[in-house]
Amino acid sequence: MAEDKLAFIRAEMNQLRESGLSINIRTMGSPADAWMIVDGRRVLNFCTNNYLGLANHPRLKEAARDAVEQWGVGPAAVRTIAGTQELHLELERRLAAFKKVEDTLYVQSGFCANQAAIPPLVGKEDVIFSDRLNHASIIDGARLSGAKVVVYDHCNPSDLEVKIREHLPAGRRGLLVTDGVFSMDGDIAPLDRLTEVAGQFGVLTMVDDAHGEGVLGSGGRGIVDHFGLHGVFDIEIGTLSKAFGVVGGVIAGRKLIIDYIRQKARPLLFSSAVTPADTAACLAAVGLLEESEDRVHRLWDNAGYFRSEMQRLGFDTGRSQTPIVPIMLGDATLAKEFSSELFETGVFAMAIGFPTVPQGMARLRVMNTAAHSRDDLNVGLEAFEKVGRKLGVTK
Ligand code: PMP
Repeated sequence: MAEDKLAFIRAEMNQLRESGLSINIRTMGSPADAWMIVDGRRVLNFCTNNYLGLANHPRLKEAARDAVEQWGVGPAAVRTIAGTQELHLELERRLAAFKKVEDTLYVQSGFCANQAAIPPLVGKEDVIFSDRLNHASIIDGARLSGAKVVVYDHCNPSDLEVKIREHLPAGRRGLLVTDGVFSMDGDIAPLDRLTEVAGQFGVLTMVDDAHGEGVLGSGGRGIVDHFGLHGVFDIEIGTLSKAFGVVGGVIAGRKLIIDYIRQKARPLLFSSAVTPADTAACLAAVGLLEESEDRVHRLWDNAGYFRSEMQRLGFDTGRSQTPIVPIMLGDATLAKEFSSELFETGVFAMAIGFPTVPQGMARLRVMNTAAHSRDDLNVGLEAFEKVGRKLGVTK
């Protein structure tokens, strides 16, 4: 009888397999870098978010080793009890200076940062205006807040205005929240125009800049810097797990807002602090970004080259404007087959399907980084050309 309780799981698992949507988790056998050992094979890596090639950088590794010697391996408490170490505060100060904001709060991950920041700002009586393609962590943070969520058309300030006029009057206050760079399409939110609309109605503004942190703006200072909205925009969410190469999330903005979130954020109050090694490695990453913009420039050069060559080969790169380059294929089974064929030729590019992207919009997603050389990119392009012809995607 006990078996019957699990019938729904077997049915759902079968359904996922039959529709080509079940996830096949590969195992890495080496650090994140341009080339990696994946499932025992050396392959060209187009899958990690290691935009600036810092995940395996000697300076970050040395900082982490030193921190373990000085601070031990774990903070052993949540930050509001006894887990806030001097390192955490130093990182928050350095990030605030780097991002040109009054204050920042460092939490366990970018995902956590959205859970931490949204619920204190809005509740049941309020309205969140959310881009149709926002990341899952925004969607979950919004749900946790209990606020009414009104979705506006993707990157569409006119529709945002229509939605604010329609829904804000019935609520106490409003919060606009958008991804900065959309993680599955690689397009950039028109933050200047969205901010203008929100500003007309006194709506708070929040951006999740997970894929813009270390990528957009001068020296990688993020999307608010890219649009010159310092002092105008309210709350920036970032992650240190992508361009910064480590782990952790950051909430950045005016001191009043960050102090308030510090009092209320449940991931801060109820989950342990980030380890000293990770925090020290993040500090080293901030140092590298402050010292030189070379990595950021290399990243954009690589992305521009790869995207234009793929287009020349006849691939559809969707709306990509950033180092995230989707290769639009539509059918989930085709995307998986394309990814497997690439892997056989030694190139690792993941197929992404529903529910990460809408049904019928499956794709491969190529993450360009500063760690790739021009030769690496040419190896990748050759493999795409060969598999594209074989599967009839290109001529
Ligand atoms: N927001 C966005 C837009 C993301 O793409 C991601 C990572 N996939 C996150 C938040 C979560 O960041 P982290 O991995 O640091 O939890």
